[in-house]
Amino acid sequence: MIHINIELNISRNINTDVLVIGGGTSGVFSAISSAMAGAKTVLVEKNSMLGGTVTVANVNFPGLFFAWGKQIINGPCWEAIERVIKLGGATMPDITFKPEKHWYEQIRINRFIYTAVLCEMCQEVGVNTLLNAMITKIEETATGIICYITEKSGITAIYAKKVVDATGDANVIQAGGYPIIKSKTQQPATPQNHISGYNMENVSLSEINSFFKKADFPVYITAEKLISYLRINKIDVHIPCENADTSSGKTKVEFNSLSLLLKIYKFYRQIRGLENIYIDFIAEETGIRETNRIVGENIITAEDYITGITYKDSICYAFYPIDLHVMSGIEKKYHKENIVAKIPYSALIPKNSKHILCAGRCISSDTYANSAIRVQSVCMATGQVAGCAAALSAQKDLFVKDIPYEELCETLKSINAIIPPVVK
Ligand SMILES: Cc1cc2nc3c(=O)[nH]c(=O)nc-3n(C[C@H](O)[C@H](O)[C@H](O)COP(=O)(O)OP(=O)(O)OC[C@H]3O[C@@H](n4cnc5c(N)ncnc54)[C@H](O)[C@@H]3O)c2cc1C
Repeated sequence: MIHINIELNISRNINTDVLVIGGGTSGVFSAISSAMAGAKTVLVEKNSMLGGTVTVANVNFPGLFFAWGKQIINGPCWEAIERVIKLGGATMPDITFKPEKHWYEQIRINRFIYTAVLCEMCQEVGVNTLLNAMITKIEETATGIICYITEKSGITAIYAKKVVDATGDANVIQAGGYPIIKSKTQQPATPQNHISGYNMENVSLSEINSFFKKADFPVYITAEKLISYLRINKIDVHIPCENADTSSGKTKVEFNSLSLLLKIYKFYRQIRGLENIYIDFIAEETGIRETNRIVGENIITAEDYITGITYKDSICYAFYPIDLHVMSGIEKKYHKENIVAKIPYSALIPKNSKHILCAGRCISSDTYANSAIRVQSVCMATGQVAGCAAALSAQKDLFVKDIPYEELCETLKSINAIIPPVVK
């Protein structure tokens, strides 16, 4: 194997207080919150659209912002949802919480309106947004971080006092040499899609059963599932997912998704009543549930999460059952009545990090806790926390773990975020 080491040819330099990498579910709100807290902020996103999993993977039903009938997550993320509702891009669901029907409280949003609102909000607060750009390499200095970004036109060096990793994959934290962990088996991925062109009444279910015997589907696809997809107009499959934090791992998931969808599509087309079936929508990216988690100053365990323990640095709420997807189904565990989980600030700090914070699904947590805290409202809330903390530590010239907790709470309150009561 030949190893080639080339010097990076830098085409331009940018200086900023805070750099957010990843303009997805959490990162957009890190950037908006950082700018609202008065920091010069740059946001770098690899896609051409803001919103991440919510928009490009079409998982456009964020939850949960309310627990037991009371709002627990507010701030710029809620403002974005309210703007979408006002523009006719969503309707507010009934928020009288019914255990085991928690998804009724998720807010189904139109992804065009949502991504447009995100652009509008970034512009309003002066976030310098760079799309079609990806992190290449980072170097830590005594006072900050140099991030090398690959743009369409070349390599840009961004010097930032503080960086928020909101890539969903801890790509920056990994590049900085901090440890990350992966579950032994990562949760499966799902390509969002929509099928039409048939009437269920005319579909020969007996043909599905008899043709299935001759088909060679993977063991996790059954004839019953093939019938159930038709009823919901969606081929709702789980795709095995391993190392999707890398380009090669992500490519494998995307290819496997398409190949399975195509196989199911071809199978349907030979069945009476399904001759004209077609897939009229597929999300640009397969939805990835899980890749890396950081090893933080504190790790949220499933027990802490489900019992709702209060940390001395509790910084936002989280409310969703433990929701671990496996190839054959979902393992669930619910909070007892009136229990609401909390997230400690220290779970957003990679161990011994001076200038880097994490937001979104890869914050420090064990496998089961992570299956719950990965939901979108919590990603958005941790995004807001990381943005405010990065702004504050840049302004005060402090390491991210040294900012006074009370001041962080004050900054979060100034952007309308909700903070759990403090325990002394
Ligand atoms: C199929 C599926 C169903 C789900 N169901 C629900 C649900 O019902 N309710 C709910 O609330 N949540 C649900 N979730 C969970 C939730 O959608 C995700 O956990 C959450 O959106 C992750 O947010 P994030 O900010 O961590 O990452 P993302 O939203 O993925 O954002 C990461 C961003 O970083 C960018 N990026 C990545 N790497 C780089 C890089 N190297 N350089 C530059 N940019 C980069 C990406 O393009 C992306 O925009 C579901 C997830 C999936 C996949």
